[in-house]
Amino acid sequence: MIEKVLIANRGEIALRIQRACRELGIKTVAVHSDADRDLKHVLLADESVCIGPAPSRDSYLHIPSIISAAEVTDTVAIHPGYGFLSENADFAERVERSGFIFIGPKPETIRLMGDKVSAIRAMKQAGVPCVPGSDGPLDSNTKRTLELAREIGYPVIIKAAGGGGGRGMRVVHSDATLLNAISLTKAEAGAAFGNDVVYMEKYLENPRHIEFQVLADNYGNAIHLGERDCSMQRRHQKVLEEAPAPGITDEQRNFIGIRCAEACSTLGYRGVGTFEFLYQDGEFYFIEMNTRIQVEHPVTEMITGVDILKEQILVASGERLRYSQDDIVLRGHAIECRLNAEHPETFMPSPGRIEDFHAPGGPGVRLDTHIYSGYVVPPYYDSMIGKLIAHGEDRHSALSRMCNALRETVIEGIHTNIPLQRQILKDAAFQQGGANIHYLEKKLGM
Ligand code: ADP
Repeated sequence: MIEKVLIANRGEIALRIQRACRELGIKTVAVHSDADRDLKHVLLADESVCIGPAPSRDSYLHIPSIISAAEVTDTVAIHPGYGFLSENADFAERVERSGFIFIGPKPETIRLMGDKVSAIRAMKQAGVPCVPGSDGPLDSNTKRTLELAREIGYPVIIKAAGGGGGRGMRVVHSDATLLNAISLTKAEAGAAFGNDVVYMEKYLENPRHIEFQVLADNYGNAIHLGERDCSMQRRHQKVLEEAPAPGITDEQRNFIGIRCAEACSTLGYRGVGTFEFLYQDGEFYFIEMNTRIQVEHPVTEMITGVDILKEQILVASGERLRYSQDDIVLRGHAIECRLNAEHPETFMPSPGRIEDFHAPGGPGVRLDTHIYSGYVVPPYYDSMIGKLIAHGEDRHSALSRMCNALRETVIEGIHTNIPLQRQILKDAAFQQGGANIHYLEKKLGM
C-alpha cells in the first residue's frame, strides 16, 4: 500500500484527495504556491511544501519544483487532481522516472488520448461510436478535402488534434469558406498547441453533452459507473451536472457503458477516466477522453455509492478492482452546482475575503469546498470555490433538495454564481430535463 501521497493541486480537489487518503490511512503532502498558504488542505496536511510564487507556471505547473518536493518528503505517489498537470504525459513520465507512482494512466495512454486523432482511431477500433468525419488528419489534397466535407454534409467542424479547453475549432457551413477555415485553424493550433494537425467532423447542431465514468485496474479489469449529463455550459465551461442523464434508457446506458469499459481493457487503461460523448437524436458520438478525475465525479459517487477517489488510489497502488459491473447499481438522482467566485450576471471573477460562510445541510446534501469564514479567494486561479451536490430518490427530489441547499448557503464578502444556479433550477426547460449544450447561453442572451 502507498504510505504517502503528494497532492499536486489546490482548492476543493486537493481537499477531496486528502480526505480519500486519510480514509485509506495514507499520509499527505500538500504543495502550494506563496498565495495558497491558508488553503484548508494545506492547514490540515501532514506536511506541506511551498513550491513557488503565485503564478501557476511558477508553482502548480512547475514540474521540477513538484518532483523536488516529492523527493524531500519521501513521497511514494503523486496525485495530479484535475487541470494543471493532470493530463500532461511528460509530467507523468517524469514522476515515474523519478521513482514515484503517478496516480493516473500510463504516460503513453495519456499521450494517445491527448491527441484527438489517435484517440478517435483507438475508440473506433474498440467499437465506440464516433462522429462521422475525416478519419484522420486533413492533408494538402484540397480536392479530396472538399469532397469529404460534401460527403459528411455541411455544417462540418474543423478541430485541432492537440486542442483543449474548447479552443482550436471552427464550424464551416459551405465550400466557400472551408479551405480558409482549415488554414486558419491549422495556424492557430500550431501556435497554441505546438501541433498543427487538424481533422474534420460532422457538426452536430443541437447535441447534449453526456459522458461515461470508467474505472480500470492494472490487470485488464474495467467497469463503467454510468453517465452524467453536463449540457448546462457557458463558453464550454460546465455549470451544473447531473446523473443519470434524463431520458437515457438502461439499454442505451449498458450498450455505451460496456463499450467504454471494453475499450479500457483493450487499451490497457489504468485508473479513472471519462468518455465524453455528444448525444443527438438518440445517438451517442464519442468526442474525447479525459484521463483524470473530473470536477463532476461526485454525482456519480452519489448514485453508485462508489468512492471514485479511493478506488483511483487503490488501483494506482496495484490493487485489483473491488467491484464487478454487476455490483454497480444506480440509485436515485444527483445534481451538482459548481460554485464560482464570480459576478452572477457579468461573470467577472470576484476574488477577495469571505467575511461570513454558512454551509447547507440535510439528507442527501454534500458540499465539497475548501472555503471557510475569513478565507481569501486569491485572484490567480480558477474561480471555482466549491461544488454543492444534492442526491434524492428521483430527479424531482434531488432538484428540490438542491433548491433548499442553495437557499441555505451563505457566502458573504465576494460575489458568487448562486443566483444564477437558482435561476437555472427554476427554469422550465431545465426542470423538464434534456436541454442541449446551447440552452444556457441562449437563455442568458449570449
Ligand atoms: P476540448 O478538448 O477543447 O474540450 P472537445 O472535443 O471536447 O474539445 O469539444 C468541446 C466542445 O465543442 C464540445 O463540448 C461541443 O460543445 C463542441 N463540439 C466539439 N465537436 C463537435 C461536433 N462534432 N459537433 C458539435 N459540437 C462540437
